[in-house]
Amino acid sequence: MRSHLPGVLLSACLLAGCAGADFRLPQITAAEVDRAALVIDGSKPGVASNARSDAENRALVSRVANRLGDSIGPLCRQSEIEPCWFDITYDADDEVNAYAEGSNRIHILRGLLRYLDSEDEVAAVVAHEIGHHLGDHIAEKQDNAAIGALLGALLMGAALGAGGYDPAYDTSNSGQQAMEQSMRLGAQIGAISYSKSQEREADLFAAYILARAEYDLDKAGHVWVVLAKMDDKTHASLLDTHPAGPERIVAWDKAVAEVKNSPDLLPDPD
Ligand SMILES: [Zn+2]
Repeated sequence: MRSHLPGVLLSACLLAGCAGADFRLPQITAAEVDRAALVIDGSKPGVASNARSDAENRALVSRVANRLGDSIGPLCRQSEIEPCWFDITYDADDEVNAYAEGSNRIHILRGLLRYLDSEDEVAAVVAHEIGHHLGDHIAEKQDNAAIGALLGALLMGAALGAGGYDPAYDTSNSGQQAMEQSMRLGAQIGAISYSKSQEREADLFAAYILARAEYDLDKAGHVWVVLAKMDDKTHASLLDTHPAGPERIVAWDKAVAEVKNSPDLLPDPD
């Protein structure tokens, strides 16, 4: 995607939105969100952590990876993902996180697994990250980062030009450095997170992925309640990049209802 001309990329992005969803997403109302907030508040206080060993966590993640991998084929075909294989790694790291990177890699960290009791919940997190791959969200994120860098450079160039800056007279190279710094900053802003619709699309994919692997969707959905409860804790780079809370739970319940009525277990294109 980086081969696009910046100008083309920029205008396409401004017109269509940088990171829209390609599938029909569940629509939710404010009243539904309020009801879900009550469910979160009413569930048992705190978040319990388990004491699984690294070996047990590794075995659990590999069981989930195999089970999801065995049934995901039709979803890969629909999204034109080839080969249909995801490299799922358990990291013995105490950060509360899981993430997708590259073309097919997924990491799930010990810090997060500590809070996930059932295999269904672990599968939900892995399936969500697979959803980011199926939705091509990582490439879209990189496009956003490239656009951010471009905007940063444009703004900086304009600022330097307005100040009478001429690179021919810049013996210290400070203008060049400022420009580079500005591009980096712009890139970071673009790369910070997935959009809300990408997150919702990843959850929608996750519901279909889990159903195909015959996981319990209601048990799996409990993970979003757990994450919502952790929302007020200070850790959680996961929560910086992933939405948690009542909205997500409402959208999940609707996705589950959609999956249960789906004749072909494939999401509907928008
Ligand atoms: Zn996500």
